[in-house]
Amino acid sequence: MAIGLPMDNDTSCVGVICMAGDQPLKELRRNDVFERVVRSIPRLAHWLEGDPLHDVRPMAGAMDRYRRFVIDGEPVVAGLLAVGDAWACTNPTAGRGLPLGIAHAVALRDVAGQGLDDPYGLAVAFDAVTEGKFTPWYRNQIDRDHERVALMKAAIEGREPPKPDESNPMVQMQRKFMVAANFDPDVARAFLDVMSVQHLPHEVIARPGIIDKVIAASDGRRMPEEQGPSREELLALVS
Ligand SMILES: Cc1cc2nc3c(=O)[nH]c(=O)nc-3n(C[C@H](O)[C@H](O)[C@H](O)COP(=O)(O)OP(=O)(O)OC[C@H]3O[C@@H](n4cnc5c(N)ncnc54)[C@H](O)[C@@H]3O)c2cc1C
Repeated sequence: MAIGLPMDNDTSCVGVICMAGDQPLKELRRNDVFERVVRSIPRLAHWLEGDPLHDVRPMAGAMDRYRRFVIDGEPVVAGLLAVGDAWACTNPTAGRGLPLGIAHAVALRDVAGQGLDDPYGLAVAFDAVTEGKFTPWYRNQIDRDHERVALMKAAIEGREPPKPDESNPMVQMQRKFMVAANFDPDVARAFLDVMSVQHLPHEVIARPGIIDKVIAASDGRRMPEEQGPSREELLALVS
């Protein structure tokens, strides 16, 4: 996966995200290899026209983590409330950590505003808000990551992409949703509601007419992110 991000002060950032343990792609740490690979991705190649501020910087160790201090309805500790990344984090490619963290802090303010003299009640109340409003975003990202990891592993091992997980049709619909958002303006607006962490995917897809538009606009099309080198081409580029 590769992304281009506009940043502050007329700067931008290009990232190539690989699976941990994908040894040949470690060569991406080299500036020349990184540039070769990014130039092979049509929608990103022009991002390299700016002046680089520094060498390629590798980053590792992004992990999925979820902490809950209420088990079977009982707080295992009172007086400790985890907010933002201290509560849960996933790999940062979805760009949801800041809006979720801010909304989570606001939720804590609201719960704490009802009184701080009952640590047990506070722990239970904040857990209920967290599980109801925020944990679904964490679970959604985990589902998406599992699907993406399965696709990446298949590519690395030279296997056919795995069949869609029929036990989780929402993940498949989300993929179509992401594709369709590139072609249909109504789907694009619905998609932005998800990207800006206003509504979960299943909520916007359930809106009248959206599912038909998703199916029509995604039919036979691919994600722009899939329009890049194949695994074989990528290995040739990094060697
Ligand atoms: C590479 C990368 C790219 C990202 N891109 C995006 C993005 O585009 N959009 C987005 O929304 N999110 C993004 N995120 C996620 C986002 O940065 C985090 O979700 C967000 O910063 C979490 O905020 P937080 O306040 O919970 O934790 P943090 O920002 O980690 O803040 C915790 C603070 O506590 C301090 N601290 C730790 N221990 C102690 C201690 N013992 N005593 C005192 N202070 C302590 C730390 O130094 C830190 O300043 C990205 C994350 C990474 C790693």
